[in-house]
Amino acid sequence: STKLMAGKKGLIMGVANDRSIAWGIAKACADHGAELAFTYQGEALERRVRPLADTVSAPIVAECDVTSPDSMDALFQTISDTWGELDFVVHAIAYSDKEELKGKYVNTSRENFLNSMDISVFSFTDVARRSAPLMKEGGSLLTLSYYGAEQVMPHYNVMGVAKAALEASVRYMAADLGPDGIRVNAISAGPIKTLAASGIGDFRVILKWNELNSPLHRNVTIEDVGSSGLYLLSDLSRGVTGEVHHVDSGYHVVGMLATDNAVP
Ligand code: NAD
Repeated sequence: STKLMAGKKGLIMGVANDRSIAWGIAKACADHGAELAFTYQGEALERRVRPLADTVSAPIVAECDVTSPDSMDALFQTISDTWGELDFVVHAIAYSDKEELKGKYVNTSRENFLNSMDISVFSFTDVARRSAPLMKEGGSLLTLSYYGAEQVMPHYNVMGVAKAALEASVRYMAADLGPDGIRVNAISAGPIKTLAASGIGDFRVILKWNELNSPLHRNVTIEDVGSSGLYLLSDLSRGVTGEVHHVDSGYHVVGMLATDNAVP
């Protein structure tokens, strides 16, 4: 069979609507035969997520707020009761107060710093710890990062610091879980217009800048991230762990483009 995910069961966390990066990855996996479980954060998003989950016949659609241990316990109990095993996880969750995604990073409040780190970093570690016992050799965990982890990007602020910590956690967990044959990777996606991105100041300018200054001269789509995600979640990438894979039209390799291509 050419279906890469036939017989695999995966948990998808972070779908808010059909523009979510998590949905792009979920679709790619479903098209390749994966059976999926979805989580949603709160009732308002349930109305968006349930119809999407139905289009891929997902057997599990569960509420989960990653800041609530009770909510995480209930989710993993459901997965354990329904499937008793898990092959892969997509973690596409991040949060900062919008007010702190403008102005200077140095003014970040302690409260928002801790909350952003909890939701955007610790939640992936928590999910990995809970998932690993359900996984056999070949298990794969994937999270989403951004170039703001590596270099300063306007308005990314506390999220840049959180993504740097998230990428470090990918490396530590790759080492921790590698002996069990479980892999941990991240995709560093180029900017995409999603609900979360709408909280970032000047996002339209960032999109345009990336389009004009990346080698491929275009922005990436959730389908682009979806097919790279499929690779990292499938056995095609069985020799890959601890990696931060850029799906950004090559933006991260550019110091300066030739002036006939670049913004003057
Ligand atoms: P999105 O708004 O579609 O998804 C963000 C998700 O995080 C939502 O589903 C939201 O419900 C969830 N979430 C936030 N707080 C939560 C909580 N406490 N408990 C459970 N879920 C919670 O936006 P997206 O852009 O698809 O974001 C997905 C991931 O991709 C994020 O980690 C984001 O940082 C990352 N990313 C986005 C871009 C971009 O330009 N859009 C680029 C690189 C990386």
